[in-house]
Amino acid sequence: MTPDSGHQPTATETRTNLVGLSRADLAAALAELGEKPFRAKQVWHWIYHRGATDFTAMTDLSKDLRGKMENHFVVGRPTIAREQTSTDRTRKWLMQFADGQKAETVFIPEDDRGAVCVSSQVGCTLTCRFCHTGTQRLVRNLTPAEIVGQFMIARDSYGEWPTPTDERRMLSNIVMMGMGEPLYNFDNVATALKIIMADDGIAVGKRRITLSTSGVVPEIHRCGAELGVNLAISLHAPDDDTRSVIMPINKKYPLKELMQACRDYPGASNARRITFEYVMLKGLNDSAAHARALIKLVKDIPCKFNLIPFNPWPGTPYECSDAAAIDAFAQILWDAGFTAPIRTPRGRDILAACGQLKTDSEKLSAKEQRGRDAAEAETAKQMWAEKEATV
Ligand code: SAH
Ligand code: SF4
Repeated sequence: MTPDSGHQPTATETRTNLVGLSRADLAAALAELGEKPFRAKQVWHWIYHRGATDFTAMTDLSKDLRGKMENHFVVGRPTIAREQTSTDRTRKWLMQFADGQKAETVFIPEDDRGAVCVSSQVGCTLTCRFCHTGTQRLVRNLTPAEIVGQFMIARDSYGEWPTPTDERRMLSNIVMMGMGEPLYNFDNVATALKIIMADDGIAVGKRRITLSTSGVVPEIHRCGAELGVNLAISLHAPDDDTRSVIMPINKKYPLKELMQACRDYPGASNARRITFEYVMLKGLNDSAAHARALIKLVKDIPCKFNLIPFNPWPGTPYECSDAAAIDAFAQILWDAGFTAPIRTPRGRDILAACGQLKTDSEKLSAKEQRGRDAAEAETAKQMWAEKEATV
């Protein structure tokens, strides 16, 4: 079924958007119209299994009920402000929400499957120095409707309604690796992911969902206990000094606490390992000494690495490590028994690669901030050069 153009909620819309309501809240909304709980199951099926965007499509509901629903509710999607497809087939959407705010969503296709990279916030409160989103101030958290809506738009775009069986989906996986820090918007992310995981709807299972965090330690356990999704940690440095320079959140939650949260992550095992993401920054975190320190740091955690060549963006103070340095770094990890693939950047020509997402709301002090960062980065570089010299 191809959905129609759908309803685009606007700031003046007063009707309730049914997308993004938990199952209990959907039942409660229908109960207000005098409907029994089983109606929620039918409506859920139409919205999340069939992809219906219009009540007239819900043909097993009476005409009378469909009319009532039309008066009180909408099935709303974000609007697509811009869509771009890369030469490597990566597709990026700039989504616009009812209040005019925007966030980006990316689909990264493999041969017959692929992952949708979903945003959790407009901007980010954190200021990781290598990340384009980090130069943008946090505008606001995305709502459950806006988070689920991003995936629904991707499905619209690839015609994947009704929900295909697992093996027949192009949009097979979800990574919470778009704009924002998902664990600083945990409640909305959790509501959205529970909707996405439900078997009788979108039905993307927890093993096909990965949540990436910069290391918001107090929420990590909840993520495992309540959602059970795969965990990825943006690690990027093996010691507090270097990590605090490039990821200021490390000052709040240093590596010792972060590593303990990983050890305690519910469901982590050799079969379901935690992914440590590691962005390769020239001269900053990419030496053999860093690799060896990394091995020590994670030695008792069931984990694998994902080495990400740094993706530059306009105005960045950093450079990507040389290919030879990345290969050597990866080899040290492999030799120590870790899986450590080097991620192939995707969608670079449309600024859709990791860390390149950003919309147009700038932090005013970004330029001055970068000047200071460069000085701090230089200090960290020197520190490691000295360490190298003593190894
Ligand atoms: N806020 C979350 C998820 C979004 S970022 C987090 O930080 O984990 C997704 C991944 O891209 C993170 O691992 C992030 O560190 C990485 N990243 C950010 N900027 C990058 C860049 N310019 N090049 C490569 N990877 C980058
Ligand atoms: Fe925010 Fe993640 Fe970018 Fe850091 S890397 S600024 S946490 S989006």
